[in-house]
Amino acid sequence: MLEQRHIDNLKEIVGEKWLSTDEFDLLCYSRDLASSIPDDLLKSYGMIGAEVVVLPQDAGQISRILAYANRHDIAITTRGAGSWALGGTLPMEGGIVIDTTKLDKILEFNTDDEYIRVQAGVEWKRVVDMAQKKGFVVGANPSSGASATIGGYIATGGGAGIGLTEYGSVGNQVLSLKVVLADGRIVETDPWSSHYFVGNEGTLGIVTEAILKVFPFPGRKHYLFGVDPMEKGVELLVKVTAMRPYYVSFLNRGLLSMINEAKGHHTKESDITISLAFNGTEKQLAKIDKQVEEIFAGCHKFDEEEAKEEWKERYRIGLAFKKLGPSLMAQDFRVPLGSVKETLQELELICEGDRWGAESLGGENDSVILAVMILADERDSADYIRKFSYAGDLGALAKKMNGAPFGLGLHNAIHLDDLYEPKAVAQLKKIRKHFDPVNILNPSKTTQARIPQEFINLSMMFMRGIPEVVGLGLKFAAALPIELTRFGLRIIGDGIK
Ligand SMILES: Cc1cc2nc3c(=O)[nH]c(=O)nc-3n(C[C@H](O)[C@H](O)[C@H](O)COP(=O)(O)OP(=O)(O)OC[C@H]3O[C@@H](n4cnc5c(N)ncnc54)[C@H](O)[C@@H]3O)c2cc1C
Repeated sequence: MLEQRHIDNLKEIVGEKWLSTDEFDLLCYSRDLASSIPDDLLKSYGMIGAEVVVLPQDAGQISRILAYANRHDIAITTRGAGSWALGGTLPMEGGIVIDTTKLDKILEFNTDDEYIRVQAGVEWKRVVDMAQKKGFVVGANPSSGASATIGGYIATGGGAGIGLTEYGSVGNQVLSLKVVLADGRIVETDPWSSHYFVGNEGTLGIVTEAILKVFPFPGRKHYLFGVDPMEKGVELLVKVTAMRPYYVSFLNRGLLSMINEAKGHHTKESDITISLAFNGTEKQLAKIDKQVEEIFAGCHKFDEEEAKEEWKERYRIGLAFKKLGPSLMAQDFRVPLGSVKETLQELELICEGDRWGAESLGGENDSVILAVMILADERDSADYIRKFSYAGDLGALAKKMNGAPFGLGLHNAIHLDDLYEPKAVAQLKKIRKHFDPVNILNPSKTTQARIPQEFINLSMMFMRGIPEVVGLGLKFAAALPIELTRFGLRIIGDGIK
């Protein structure tokens, strides 16, 4: 329990208006996009939850907060928009949640030297729209950009999204970052040292400002194709991705049918619907047009207006159909482009009998990020727990396809050893210790899995086989005092602070 004197001292730093200990606020800040995880399940994770929320106005205030927390060993959870579904913003060890969304200024747009200087709490869509107005284009940016913040996307690695197939991941566009370190020091990085902070998931420092490269915008053409059967759709996806479009994404039939139903649309449904956008001069676009027409000859081509409409929806499509659930199980993972066909075939088997869909986004190094979404209803505990267990199957599927989970956070931290060689894991842990020796920044996440993988695998097996019994077990566990749950977790794992 955070002592009142700490809260009073934080008030001194950010001002009374920008601090909250209100019960409802604390509850909201103890959830993220995956908040429809049932409470019993969250409690069995032993989460303490937010004890105080602060909304600092600048890097100076963040520096004072971190220096204070470091001195008093208080956990810090950094939060952008909370749109990442891997539990990265869940305050597992209690303490302070730092909401970065008041760092909301675009500080400079330099058209001569082609960069933008922006604070970490700004939403990506604002930057994309401003660049467009000035005749520029932003490189990688997330399809959640209507809410996702500059800092959140950088912290999660920016390894999938719009613009990525043409310009590479967000790390390639970062020229410099302003970062507050765990002890309160403020540093400014060069492109090389920025890489420590791209993808560290809030464990090495808090990004407060970024200088990002932007690119001249020559013009754009949009396409939308429906392809049957799925195997052919994937074959054409591979061909067209090799042309490095600015945007390439597909929806499978299941996802499009859910969107049609939820929105009352009548978009023609195919096994695979591919949306594309290419940037180029008029001459370049004419050449691209010829190649694209050749690749998709004989497929259903939507007219350009429909393709543009689909492009406009790119920031909204993700959860447009959630209400059909009304809950949603979503899991993202990365697979090589060459394994997409087999992955979709196996998904049919895993999700057989359920209503599900998949959406893709271009990932780094010719990979595809597949977002698998399964309709669920958290009011039906047994059904929900059974579907929750798919996370284990999807993780295993990604591994089988030479892919990987897309990010670690809280839920995927158990996969760290699958992603890296033991030497690299040891190095990552060493770097973390070097930057944050007291372990205040996002403890129990990323390189600090709190429960061993074998235990999770076993739990998933029971969730699938006997969800009703697991439901009762979770109810019992949730009723235990939190100290007892955390004591139990400490016995089976070592990630708890
Ligand atoms: C519909 C939809 C579409 C999506 N599309 C994409 C996509 O195209 N590409 C993609 O990569 N992801 C995508 N995501 C996932 C998510 O939106 C992104 O990862 C997003 O960039 C997270 O930003 P955020 O501001 O919400 O971060 P949060 O969820 O608030 O935080 C994410 C992590 O970053 C840390 N963090 C946040 N801000 C900072 C900071 N300033 N300094 C240090 N650490 C920080 C947090 O502690 C946490 O661990 C999508 C999600 C949804 C719901």
